[in-house]
Amino acid sequence: MAEIKIIIAGAGIAGLAAAVSLRQLNSSGHNFDVHLYERAPELKEIGASIALSPNGLRTLELLGVENALDDNIGYRGPSALPMIYRHWKTNEIVSVDQFVDVPNHKHQTARFHRAHLHDALLQHVPREIIHLNKEIISAEADGAGVTLLFKDGTNVKGDILIGADGLRSKVRTTFNPEHKLHWTGRTLFGSTFDYSLVKDIPDLPPDSTHWWGPKTTFFASRLGRNMYTTVGSFDPRDYSKENPDSVRWDQVADVAPFRELYNEDWNPVVKALAEATPYVRLYPNFAGEPLASWVFGSRVTLVGDAAHTHGGSHAAGGSLALDDALALYLSFRHVLATVDPSQKPSLEDIHRALTLYEKTRRPHTTRLINGVLGSANAIAPATDEELRQRMTNRASTIWLTEHDVNATFAKVVQDEGLIPSIPQSSTANPQKQSSQTQSRL
Ligand SMILES: Cc1cc2nc3c(=O)[nH]c(=O)nc-3n(C[C@H](O)[C@H](O)[C@H](O)COP(=O)(O)OP(=O)(O)OC[C@H]3O[C@@H](n4cnc5c(N)ncnc54)[C@H](O)[C@@H]3O)c2cc1C
Repeated sequence: MAEIKIIIAGAGIAGLAAAVSLRQLNSSGHNFDVHLYERAPELKEIGASIALSPNGLRTLELLGVENALDDNIGYRGPSALPMIYRHWKTNEIVSVDQFVDVPNHKHQTARFHRAHLHDALLQHVPREIIHLNKEIISAEADGAGVTLLFKDGTNVKGDILIGADGLRSKVRTTFNPEHKLHWTGRTLFGSTFDYSLVKDIPDLPPDSTHWWGPKTTFFASRLGRNMYTTVGSFDPRDYSKENPDSVRWDQVADVAPFRELYNEDWNPVVKALAEATPYVRLYPNFAGEPLASWVFGSRVTLVGDAAHTHGGSHAAGGSLALDDALALYLSFRHVLATVDPSQKPSLEDIHRALTLYEKTRRPHTTRLINGVLGSANAIAPATDEELRQRMTNRASTIWLTEHDVNATFAKVVQDEGLIPSIPQSSTANPQKQSSQTQSRL
C-alpha cells in the first residue's frame, strides 16, 4: 500500500476532528499517515465555554466521537430549547429559539467546557501523532509535495497539508498574504467556574439564557461536569482608548468593569451572576472577508477558523470545524474509491478531493461571514420597543445549526455530474437521514 502523508497544522478542535476523520480513510484499504503539529507545549484548551449545535453533534456521532454526546460532558437544559432570550431589565422571556428537526436528545444543542470537548476528541487520536512545541511560521507546496516550516528551524514534508491553525492561521497567511482580519467592534468577557458558586441564586434559569440589553448582552449557562459560564459583551472604547489589537486572546482582565457593566438597572439574576463570577478573560472578536479559494497548490486546504474567519458569531465555530472534517472525509472517500490503494493518489486526485471539499463548505461559510460582516457595528436600539422587536424578529439560524453536510456533499457531487463512486448509505436519503440517527462513517 502506498503511504499518503497528511500534515495537519494545529491540534485544536478543527485539527483533531480532521485527524479523526482522515484516519478513517484507512478502512478503505488506503494508507493515510496523519500527523498534527501544534505550537503549544502541552495539549490543553483555553478555559472558555463552547456550544455545539445539532449539526456538530450529529457529525461527532458520525465520526465515532460518541463519548462527547454524553449529558455528563455537555449540558442540555430541561426546556429542550437551544436558547432562551430574556429582557435585560424585567427578566421576562421575550423570545426563544426552537429546534426544527432534532428529535434525538443527544443531538440537541449542548454546552461544554472547551477542555472537556477537546479531551473527548483526543481520546480518538493516538498521542504519538501529535507533535507539540512546533510553532509554524510558513508553508510551501509544489508538484512534489508540501512542507511546513517551524520557528525552531526544522521542517516536515508530506503529500497534503491541512491548515487547522485557527483564526490567525499561518497556513492561510502564507497562501493569502493580502487577507486581513478586522475587529468587529465587540470584545467578550468570559468566565467558566464551578456551578456551586451560582446554584443558590434566586430564580436562576436552568436553561441557557441570553439577556439582551440596549447596549450589550449577557449570556449564562450550565456546562457539562458541573461547570458554569458567564459571558458579557462590551465595546472597550466606552472605557478606554485601548487598541483592541493590543488585547491578547484569553487575556486575564479585571473583573470589576464586568460587574459594573451589569449593575445599575440590570435584573437581580444577572447582577447576582456578574457578582458571583470569580474572574474574567477577554476575547476580542475579529473577523475577515471570505476567502476566494480554499485550495492552494492542489495540495493544501484549510479547516475551522483558519478557513472561515467569522469570529465567534452565532457560537457556530466548533460545529463548523467538525462539519469541515466530515466534508473532507467525504470528499477524499469519493475520489479514492476510483484509486487503486497500491498506488499513491495523483496530484489531480488530491486536487479533485480538495475541490469537492471546498464546494461543499465554502458557500455555506461564506453566507455566515457575509452576515457577520454586514451586521458589525450595528446601531443600538433607540427604544425599549425597538429592542423587543429586534429580539423577536431575529433572523433564524436553522440553516446553520441544523445544516446537513451529507446532503450538501451529495448535491455537490450531483451538480458536478459525478457518478457516486461509493455506496452512499449516509447520503442516499439526506432529508430522511437528517431526522434520524445517522449511520457511522
Ligand atoms: C469570542 C469567541 C467566542 C466563541 N464562542 C464559541 C461558541 O460558543 N461555540 C462555538 O462553537 N464556537 C465558538 N467560537 C469559535 C470556536 O472557538 C472555534 O471556531 C473552534 O474552536 C474551532 O477552532 P479551530 O480548531 O479552527 O481553531 P483554534 O481553536 O484556534 O485552534 C487552533 C490550534 O492551532 C494552534 N496554532 C495556532 N497557530 C499556530 C502556529 N503558528 N503553529 C502551530 N500551532 C498553531 C493553536 O495553538 C490551536 O491549538 C468562538 C470564537 C470566538 C472568537
